[in-house]
Amino acid sequence: MNHVKCTSCLEVLPLEAFRLLTCGHAFCNTCALNWIEACRDQAKRPTCPACRHTFSKNDLRPVYITFATVGEVAQAKEDMTKGKAKDVAEKIGLMDATSPAKSVERAAVELEKVAQSISSLDGSQQADTRDLILGAVLEFKDRIAPLYAEVAVNRDRIKELKKSNAALESNSRKLEAGSARLNEKLTEALDTAEEAAVQIVSLRAENRILQQQTEKLETDVAYLNQSLAEKKKEALEWRSRVTKFKKNVMDLTIPFQRKRL
Ligand SMILES: [Zn+2]
Ligand SMILES: [Zn+2]
Repeated sequence: MNHVKCTSCLEVLPLEAFRLLTCGHAFCNTCALNWIEACRDQAKRPTCPACRHTFSKNDLRPVYITFATVGEVAQAKEDMTKGKAKDVAEKIGLMDATSPAKSVERAAVELEKVAQSISSLDGSQQADTRDLILGAVLEFKDRIAPLYAEVAVNRDRIKELKKSNAALESNSRKLEAGSARLNEKLTEALDTAEEAAVQIVSLRAENRILQQQTEKLETDVAYLNQSLAEKKKEALEWRSRVTKFKKNVMDLTIPFQRKRL
């Protein structure tokens, strides 16, 4: 006979003593009836003490369940553990370098769980399962763990590469911006050079005109200098002539002056 504990009065009683409510909770018949009485005293519809779902006395049902024997439970546990061990071993067998790192990690966790549940099995029953799981552990250790380590290394490498790639991209963007600025400057410089070239052409023309003017002026100046020199010479000649003339006049006038004295 199988016994169950009432969550209301905490007594351990045979299953036949229990009543099931419509909500799915079950209490011993005594607790269920007492509860209905207590609710009635407060002029309330009875509600489940666990979830407050309403029910009536007519809803109470006996519970029909067949409990498994201890041996059956142990067998079921073993079957479950064996099944899980087989699943995990198969999963690990299918893993290779292309398996996602997440599922490899999960397989390791499952392996650990199965290994723990084996220890709860009866000694005589666990030999097969233990061998199976031991094989899976060795397979994981020899074949999968190094792959996983490689994956981890690759992941780190990719992270580093991404970082340096980002740095390169930012540098290249800076260079592009710099080159754009240089292009702008170059365009400006070319514009300036073009303007300068135009100016030089007009300056040259102007210069030619100025040179011609200078040459003409120089000729004029030379001519003027020459004529000035000639005029000076003439003037000097005239002066000496005048001086001579004055002297002659003086020479002529002196005798007259003497006579007057
Ligand atoms: Zn009870
Ligand atoms: Zn309930």
